[in-house]
Amino acid sequence: MNWAKDHLIELDNRQFADNDKHICVNCIEDTYLKKWAKQSSTERTECDYCHKIGKTVSMENLISKIMDAIKLRYDDAANAGASWDGREGGYQCSTLDTHDLINFEIEDCISSNSKVIDDIVDTIYDCAWCKKDPYGMTEREIYEYSWKYFSNLVKYNNRYFFINDKEDEYGERYSPIDILNIIAEKSKNLGIVKILPAGTTFYRARSYKPEDIQPYDAKHLVAPPSEKAKNDRMSACGISVFYASDSIETCKREIYKGKFSKDKVVIGKFKTLYGLKYLDLTAIKNLELPSFFDTEQFDTREAILFFRGLNTELTRPIEELENIEYVPTQIFAEYFKQVVKLNGIKYDSAKDKGGTCFVLFFNNPQCLKKLKFVDYKCLN
Ligand SMILES: [Zn+2]
Repeated sequence: MNWAKDHLIELDNRQFADNDKHICVNCIEDTYLKKWAKQSSTERTECDYCHKIGKTVSMENLISKIMDAIKLRYDDAANAGASWDGREGGYQCSTLDTHDLINFEIEDCISSNSKVIDDIVDTIYDCAWCKKDPYGMTEREIYEYSWKYFSNLVKYNNRYFFINDKEDEYGERYSPIDILNIIAEKSKNLGIVKILPAGTTFYRARSYKPEDIQPYDAKHLVAPPSEKAKNDRMSACGISVFYASDSIETCKREIYKGKFSKDKVVIGKFKTLYGLKYLDLTAIKNLELPSFFDTEQFDTREAILFFRGLNTELTRPIEELENIEYVPTQIFAEYFKQVVKLNGIKYDSAKDKGGTCFVLFFNNPQCLKKLKFVDYKCLN
């Protein structure tokens, strides 16, 4: 009698019913769950889905693993403190039933066998699933909101003294300096702060008018003198930096002014004389996203998802050089130069799909000391 009572309490806590079926490793799609099943399988039995004999785990253990991942993010609205109003259609927050949660909300594919999915949906108790904190933000949403707040602040309100701007009193937004610190710390943790070895080749394109002096020497092909430095993605007007690429094609596309332009173009080739520390934004898209079900890697998954969105923001195409949309990225770059003490940032070209750009934080005289001029090539 006691066992039956204890079991009912257990079922209630875990929120899924008994299930005596077995599933083989091959019927599981998600890489993390597949690996877990391989490691935890202790027997070779018949799979209840493909009917082959092989390494299997009990469906109960698989569902328990899935529930661990669900409970990190969702809860039964009845337990999560969601308010209920029968006249207004029920729970006053966004909810999902178990079918929609498993089939549509979770993007990672548990199994391509629909019978497996149906069994999982039938075994998990149906309830109104809502966010664990139905009215609060997740840590990732707080990062996203904090970046958005910082961007708007420096564009429209307080460009130079934002260091005094505090976090909000409800704990739903970091201060501008804190969100920059968080980005820097997570960049190191994700391994996207890297060293560029000495001897790395860079190309820099320069356009000039036919009547101008021919800019064929190092002095004229590196970063411009400060008084000629224009507003750009990673540097404000007057702040001279070295924009370059590892490909001639990307350089050309970055400065292309249209087919009717009579401007001449020359490409300078340089090699770095020292190892340089840089932030590699192009590496974000290649970071392996941990599975939804890997609860130990939850923070890493959330960080990568945040960085993917941030990278889109930092590298989106902006036509007007004078546009204030560049202000947040300019401050972002200056933060990595002055506070994190990096030498540059590598990022995806907005004008050459698949191409990469670099900004090295060297002004004209610094370029002449830190880079070796190899040669140049006139394109027209
Ligand atoms: Zn199977």
